[in-house]
Parts: sequence; structure tokens; C-alpha cells
Amino acid sequence: MIGIGVDIGGTFVKLYVMNDHGEIFRQEKLETNFSKGTKGFVTQIGDFINDIKEQFADQRVCVAVGAPGDVDHEKGILRYNPNLKFTDVQEWPLADQLEKYTGLRPQVVNDATLAAWGVYETDLQRQGTNVLIVTLGTGVGGGLIINKELYQGSHGTAGEIGHMKIADTSVGPLCGCGARGCLEAFVGTIGIKRRTLQSIVDHPDSILAKMVKTGADFKVDQVAKAAEKDCPQALKIWQDTGYYLGLGIANLSLILDLDTVVLTGGVSGAALYFMPALKQVLEHQQIKTPFKKLKLLVSKNPNIGGVGAAMYALHQAQTYLHK
Ligand SMILES: [Zn+2]
Repeated sequence: MIGIGVDIGGTFVKLYVMNDHGEIFRQEKLETNFSKGTKGFVTQIGDFINDIKEQFADQRVCVAVGAPGDVDHEKGILRYNPNLKFTDVQEWPLADQLEKYTGLRPQVVNDATLAAWGVYETDLQRQGTNVLIVTLGTGVGGGLIINKELYQGSHGTAGEIGHMKIADTSVGPLCGCGARGCLEAFVGTIGIKRRTLQSIVDHPDSILAKMVKTGADFKVDQVAKAAEKDCPQALKIWQDTGYYLGLGIANLSLILDLDTVVLTGGVSGAALYFMPALKQVLEHQQIKTPFKKLKLLVSKNPNIGGVGAAMYALHQAQTYLHK
């Protein structure tokens, strides 16, 4: 069986072709072409799928598409896509259009959710029954595996943990979504940048202040590098990041009684500096049971959207075959 994974991003579309033994046959990165509208885009991916169908004509081919934004996974519709510049449709029936063009009905799922499946298959080898995967980057996203299956919720939007409120929603920091007090506003890149810039004002002679200088070319790596040099201000920023992330993970563990949490995405590279504070929050919870055996891991595969999509396509096809 052949699985095709399509990971749609605002700048690139990544395509992966693999079989059910995990061998990758082809991977491609195409520029997302907005100029010809959604139909032109469907042709762009559809031609790739048709090509693979022809190449593996003797095998079953299945497809999953990870799309950024709000996805109706049952109907395969992208309901809202702020990062894609298509203006010709309000609600984009991506699965229908691709099926018409290729003859294959793809799974269309939120991209962070499929990346979570990729982490579950590769990092965890499907070990763990109830797993939370947290993607830490500019945005903070999540994916949930419940009873060893991807949990998408009633409307396909499960796992939007970045917008879980961990502070007062009238005075907390502003999030990219327009609300205040979201987890993302504390532990996403923008939250880390906000605290860094404040620290520079308060401690203009710190190592951190010298490394960052202005906010114009801010990178989270700079805060990690300053922490590596034992800068107390940088260490404090990571300590706070760990604390806030710990609050979010503690809330979710209390609700879901997880066995494993995996951190992924660019910011997780600084886990060395924020993990002690995160663990402390979990250790200090009054209800102990959900935290006693909770495994906290950092993914070794931070960019797994496309592979995760291909793996999910294969997993879905196999589950369907066995039913
Ligand atoms: Zn938010």
C-alpha cells in the first residue's frame, strides 16, 4: 500500500510518498501557487497524486492532506484558512475537488493534528494510549491521541491548546487570536519575545540585552544562547516559559489523565532550560495520580507534517481494511 502525505503551508506544499513499511519513495517541496485560485492549486497537487497513482498502478494508493486552519475532517472542507491567500472560495471543499481530479478521496485534517500523528508513529512507535503532542513555535498547537487513535473532536478542531486561557482574560497579554490570557501569548515566540524586550529595558547590561539588541531580528535561539552563557535574565525567561507551559499541561492532564506528553516545534529545542520549571509545576499539583507516571518527552522530529500525513493515510486505509 502507498500513502501520499500532503502538507499545505502558506509558502510551501510538502509532498511525501511512502509505503506501509515506512520506506519513503519520494518527497517534494513545491511553492504554494495562489495565482490560479483553489482550482489551480488542486491541479498542482492532483497532478502529483495522479503521477504516483500511475507509478504504483499495481498497489492501493491513499492520500491525507494536512491543511492549516479550521478543517471539517468529515466533509474534507477547509472552513477558515487565514494563512492561505486563496480568495475565490469562502469554504473550500478540498476533498471533493481532489477526488474529482484524481479519483481518490483524501482525508483532509488540520495540519498540526497530522503532525501529532507523525510524532506518535515515529517518536513513540505508537507506544502510549492517551498522548498529548504540543507544537511550540510562533503559534502553539496541539494534537491528541486518545485510546491510540487521533482525537479530532466533534467538529475537527480538538487540540487548539494555544488558546486555552491560563491568565485573566481582561488584563492578560494579548494573543494573535485577539483574546487575552491564552497559553500561546505566554509560551509562543511572541510571548517569549515580549518578555525578552521587557527584560532588556529592565536590565540593559545583561548578556541577553547584548545578544538581542533590538526586537527587529529577534529569534528564540538568541534567548537560548544567552541562557547557555548563564545569563540570569535569559534563564528567568525560560523558567517563566516552563512555568506557563506547565500550567497548560497540568490542566490538560487533569482533564484527560494522559500517559505521555511530547513537545515538538522550534521552541522545544530550548527544553533544557524550561523543562525544570515545567516539571516543578506538575510535581506541585495537589492531585498527584495523573502526574506520577506521566512521561514528558521532546520530539526528535520537529518537521513531521508531511510524513505524518502519509502515515495517517496508511493508518486510516489499514483500519478501514480490517473492519
Ligand atoms: Zn489566543
